[in-house]
Amino acid sequence: MYDPLHDKSPGTNVAYPDSYWASVSGSAPDSDGQLTQDIDTDVVIIGAGYTGLSCALHLAREHNVKAVVVEANKTAWGCSGRNAGFILKSTGRKPWTAMTKSWGEEVMRGIYAEVCQGVETVNSLIAEGIDCEQQDPGYIRVAHKPSMFPGLIKQAKLLQETFSYEVDVLTRNELHQQYMADQNAHGAIRFHDSFGINPLKLAWGYQDLARQAGAKIYTGTPVTELGQENGKQVVVTPQTKISASKVILATNGYTPKNFHSSVANKTLPVLSQIIVTEPLSEQQLQACNFLTSNVVMDTRALKYYYRKLPDNRILFGGRGAITGKSSDDPYYAQRLLVVLKQSFPALQSIQYQYAWSGWICMSLDDIPHINQAEDNPNVFYAMGYCGNGVSFAVQAGKRLADKVIGINLPNLPLYNRQLPKFPLPALRRVGQWGYFHYGKIKDSYF
Ligand SMILES: Cc1cc2nc3c(=O)[nH]c(=O)nc-3n(C[C@H](O)[C@H](O)[C@H](O)COP(=O)(O)OP(=O)(O)OC[C@H]3O[C@@H](n4cnc5c(N)ncnc54)[C@H](O)[C@@H]3O)c2cc1C
Repeated sequence: MYDPLHDKSPGTNVAYPDSYWASVSGSAPDSDGQLTQDIDTDVVIIGAGYTGLSCALHLAREHNVKAVVVEANKTAWGCSGRNAGFILKSTGRKPWTAMTKSWGEEVMRGIYAEVCQGVETVNSLIAEGIDCEQQDPGYIRVAHKPSMFPGLIKQAKLLQETFSYEVDVLTRNELHQQYMADQNAHGAIRFHDSFGINPLKLAWGYQDLARQAGAKIYTGTPVTELGQENGKQVVVTPQTKISASKVILATNGYTPKNFHSSVANKTLPVLSQIIVTEPLSEQQLQACNFLTSNVVMDTRALKYYYRKLPDNRILFGGRGAITGKSSDDPYYAQRLLVVLKQSFPALQSIQYQYAWSGWICMSLDDIPHINQAEDNPNVFYAMGYCGNGVSFAVQAGKRLADKVIGINLPNLPLYNRQLPKFPLPALRRVGQWGYFHYGKIKDSYF
């Protein structure tokens, strides 16, 4: 598998992974195909995931700028077509309380407002007619041990007090009786407004809207080099050269090694792994009392997440391998299956039918950054969602569009700080390995 810390290109026109989404979503809608001739344009966007597509859509609709998007493989070949499809009111990994501590309450509330706008924009784009198999609203955060439940209750109270956010507290019994009998869950809190979707169809829907608004989306067109010539930005692909006034890096966890100085050594791509089981029978559903199709995540440092899909399969995810080379080792999928069976002992005989993984993009300070390169005011980027970008990447793309045309963004660390560099970047994976071990010990013993 392509490994962004080692490889200089994600490939050309590589097929979608053998994911559940690729198998159930039908044929991809038309893109503009491969770029085969040199072009001159105002704005070129590299990467056709949610960030790049949202940026192209908002540039066209709100600012009348018809951008060109170039994607190495297929639309949403990266994270956007292979994630778990949880639309959550959050981004990054930094808790609200930690934001208040670092930057004060006003900034924390400003970030919350941005996150909410992201979900609103996703909702309004879906309402334009994107068929992405939206499921019933609800996000359940389960305590993986009894000792984690009081912390969740505190979090629910804080959210109610701070944002008037409606959050239910569910005892283990209530959870088991009303939602699902997860034996690893010792109480939970439930948010009312998150939901699950088919992520690939969502991205394809964005692509259609962006193209209808006038953007061009070229697939099978990897960017191999970025430079400048005669005061213009030059974006080189194997067959063509694009001259542009402005360049946007929307490559997130799939950003190739040493792609551009503004983001080099400033992200850590981490594999998240997903399995999807065969469909559960009526009997199995009843035995697990699996009534809900809400999205679920636990309180572990190394989180597990799951949801029941529209055809009664279970999508179950967690951390994957450390390197691209070991990503296809069935050990990682099997490990998820073992935990799924611990949660639902009635599923002892269940098998998985799909297994795949993808690179989420960690930033050192646990928040995404949407900014202009320090050494080149005509290069922009948005990345570092830390595995929490299905809705926020759309807001990031919208804000990038504003920034490109010169609108001042809210004065928030998301928009006014550069992605920080990792100390000793060559050792990022050693740090990750250390964190995984710390997480394992914390989740088992504390
Ligand atoms: C397994 C998994 C589960 C996840 N689940 C969730 C979830 O449930 N909820 C949530 O909020 N977030 C989730 N995420 C994270 C979420 O999917 C991402 O934050 C989001 O999709 C990022 O979108 P993006 O457009 O920025 O990047 P991507 O979708 O990764 O797009 C980047 C694109 O850039 C292209 N590219 C890279 N280099 C080049 C080049 N040189 N030339 C041309 N193109 C290039 C790539 O091919 C890729 O298509 C998950 C991620 C994974 C991997």
